[in-house]
Amino acid sequence: MIDFKTLESVILNNDKFLITTHVNPDADAIGSEIAFQLILKKLGKETYIINHSETPYNLKFLDKDDVIKKFDKNIHSKIFNEVDVLMALDFNHSDRMVRMSDDFRNSSKLKICVDHHQDEEDFVDHQFIDTNYSATAHIIYDFIRKTGIVKLDYDLAYPIYAAIMTDTGSFRFERTSSELHKIAAELLELGIIPGEVFDKIYDQSYLSKVKLLGAALESLQLFGDKNEIGYMTLTRQDFRKCNGIESDTENFVNFSLSVQNVKIGLLFIELSEGFKVSFRSKGNIPMNKLAAEFNGGGHINAAGARFHKEKMSDMIPIIVKKAEKYLEKYNG
Ligand code: 5GP
Ligand code: MN
Repeated sequence: MIDFKTLESVILNNDKFLITTHVNPDADAIGSEIAFQLILKKLGKETYIINHSETPYNLKFLDKDDVIKKFDKNIHSKIFNEVDVLMALDFNHSDRMVRMSDDFRNSSKLKICVDHHQDEEDFVDHQFIDTNYSATAHIIYDFIRKTGIVKLDYDLAYPIYAAIMTDTGSFRFERTSSELHKIAAELLELGIIPGEVFDKIYDQSYLSKVKLLGAALESLQLFGDKNEIGYMTLTRQDFRKCNGIESDTENFVNFSLSVQNVKIGLLFIELSEGFKVSFRSKGNIPMNKLAAEFNGGGHINAAGARFHKEKMSDMIPIIVKKAEKYLEKYNG
């Protein structure tokens, strides 16, 4: 249970806020930032939104007023000690801010975290975390409803809907409850058009992204006695050939789970420095635990980890083998 009263008093008793989210932000990350910024604006508060990563191009429509800034140490470092509150949204490990982590950790100001992920690190003064929520923006919705801190209107409903839609895989993942559909209905009554939001996020891709998906699908391999592990790889060469970028790869991993019998889907993505792995599963095979073995994290069915030193081609067989162990341990 989240202590919304405390969250409300943190907001009402302070004036200047710095909001941030995790590296490679998704629609829940950006949508939650924009929603919180709107709440604070309605209350006459001053807000900065500063992120490690640039906002992916398909999510820029959520930031209509172009308020989100990409972190530049020279320009933004001082803000971490000028505001009253630092607000971490949609993540709970400080290293997920990458280049910003030190400025955040070293600030003497009040720090809070609003999130729905497991395995939290204690890096803030107040944690508002509940893994029962489908999205961080779902928590924000509940916060507005339970406290009445501001009126829910179309502008607020828009980023909240976008965030919930994407974090539930368009209303199909486990936390898609009848309650959540009632919330969606309420957001629709405020004027949200589902097809419009979906089109902006998923159906306005650059050709390069679709080509990169082609390369990922081309690489798909099955592993294990019963072909229950599906994994794909994207190398730097694939990125160059397709002219793709890291944020293009969001949701690619789900295609490995769309193959008959596959229970664990993996996507290995080579980055300009190091590589990342996306872990997905069906049922009760805990991908957050598997990812945690490599210093990553996430949820039961969706997790990730980043590798800075190791070579991707060396680690693929090790990680796939480890995934097989999880299959043996938790499957059935
Ligand atoms: P994705 O595979 O889409 O990047 O991430 C899936 C989930 O795993 C997300 O909910 C995200 O929060 C979590 N996750 C991804 N990468 C990392 C990581 O490097 N560290 C941690 N702690 N969590 C991650
Ligand atoms: Mn989220």
